[in-house]
Amino acid sequence: MADQDEQLKKIIAHAKEYGFVYPSSEIYDGLSATYDYGPLGSELKNNIKSFWWKSMVQYHENVVGIDAAIFMHPKTWKASGHIDAFNDPLIDNKDSKKRYRADVLVEEWVQKIEKKIQKEVDKAAKRFGDAFDETQFRNTNDRVLANLEKIDGANERFKTAMEQNDLADIKQLIIDLDIADPLSGSKNWTDVRQFNLMFSTEMGSTAEGADTVYLRPETAQGIFVNFLNVQKTARMKIPFGIAQIGKAFRNEIIARQFIFRMREFEQMEMQFFVRPGEELEWYEKWKKERLKWHHAIGIAKERYRFHDHTNLAHYANAATDIEYEFPFGFKELEGIHSRTDFDLKKHQEFSGKKLQYFDPEIGENYVPYVVETSIGLDRMFLAVLSHSYGQETLEDGSQRMVMRIPHFLAPYKVAVLPLLKKDGLPEKAREVLGELKFDYNCQYDEKDAIGKRYRRQDAIGTPFCITVDHQSLEDNTVTLRDRDSMQQERVSIAVLQQLLREKVTAPKLN
Ligand code: ATP
Repeated sequence: MADQDEQLKKIIAHAKEYGFVYPSSEIYDGLSATYDYGPLGSELKNNIKSFWWKSMVQYHENVVGIDAAIFMHPKTWKASGHIDAFNDPLIDNKDSKKRYRADVLVEEWVQKIEKKIQKEVDKAAKRFGDAFDETQFRNTNDRVLANLEKIDGANERFKTAMEQNDLADIKQLIIDLDIADPLSGSKNWTDVRQFNLMFSTEMGSTAEGADTVYLRPETAQGIFVNFLNVQKTARMKIPFGIAQIGKAFRNEIIARQFIFRMREFEQMEMQFFVRPGEELEWYEKWKKERLKWHHAIGIAKERYRFHDHTNLAHYANAATDIEYEFPFGFKELEGIHSRTDFDLKKHQEFSGKKLQYFDPEIGENYVPYVVETSIGLDRMFLAVLSHSYGQETLEDGSQRMVMRIPHFLAPYKVAVLPLLKKDGLPEKAREVLGELKFDYNCQYDEKDAIGKRYRRQDAIGTPFCITVDHQSLEDNTVTLRDRDSMQQERVSIAVLQQLLREKVTAPKLN
């Protein structure tokens, strides 16, 4: 745990020092759970967005994009259920004065018991060696079974209490499970209260009678209300998808863990409209497709896993999370949900407008079913950052800080460096830069010794450095240095474009 905290702290410090992410309004001591992306951060973020957009919209004939407003008619949120039910149950500890989400406290208790079970399994595996059958052990060992029963009991009780809005029983559950404040160890809890996560503001002047409007807590509703607009104007036939990237806002009760949980964040969402009855088939397809996207980025596959939901939201008939192993453990990075026809039907009901599709192939009108893929851009950014961050000891014993950002996502693809600041080398280097800058984001640097400049580029994740030296003036060749292997090769300036194209182009997903 301490190591994990340490790792996250290092990443946060590095992100700030090199201009990836700053605390928001830092000169006023920051604003809780809001962050600003600096020069390198905004490039990396744009590259992730562009990869997602291309993979979803450009590579799929039947997916188109939109960019809806953040403000929406207030009835939208009544219809979607956010006004009545987008709540988290919160509880305060009277001694530490710290606030917690009751569901998270229960979830962490479950994880603790699951760890106990795992310990039991690991111990037995050691004892029995090759003959060990884990499934049999889990199904028959008394201690494991007793703990599993405890977990099921707690989950079931929590679910029922939430469904019946029985907040007193949620508090009682926390007491019965003997849950203590993780920071102070105190078990002195307040009552549980529901807390709506939507931010609201006023639209229009008070004289006209201002209306309460909300900052959207998810981008999906902008897609639902535009379903027919898009279907008609883009001449889409079911099955088809609508994709969108945009800001969302949630007044999170506790927002720790850097950009993992923010109050203002960005989502990349796609709603895929299908014939009723075909949704589970599409759900499986999109699960595969999205995992393929993650794997194409080049991060180790073991750092991803699916976590299928057993407690489904009222609008879903299947749901899973793609979890990523962040420095603080496996956590949700993306959600894939089969949302049935819940949202479109609700908007039909509240707006009084038909949101139906006439399917010429079967000659029927229906409200389509929806499969959603929803990924947090900032969480993806943190996944890339934590995958890339590394400290290495080199053969000569010296240390090197290197950000192994996948080439196609790196903020700068190339740094162009004249070996010396004289003898016509800067002029030649600028010539090379002039040829590359229209295709690649490049950096020019002539300050300090070359070794120091290489280290600077390693620390910001630039995959290639081009060094212009005296030989370059004679034969139009330069050295190309690879960030990861630190190998250098002599190449002709004439082939640089082609070489880089092969090395820094985004993967093409079919
Ligand atoms: P969590 O359980 O972590 O609160 P969620 O299940 O409420 O997340 P969804 O409503 O499914 O999240 O939103 C889709 C995606 O949006 C999430 O997978 C996550 O990547 C991202 N996301 C949600 N809330 C936040 C937040 N507060 N900060 C950053 N990203 C977020």
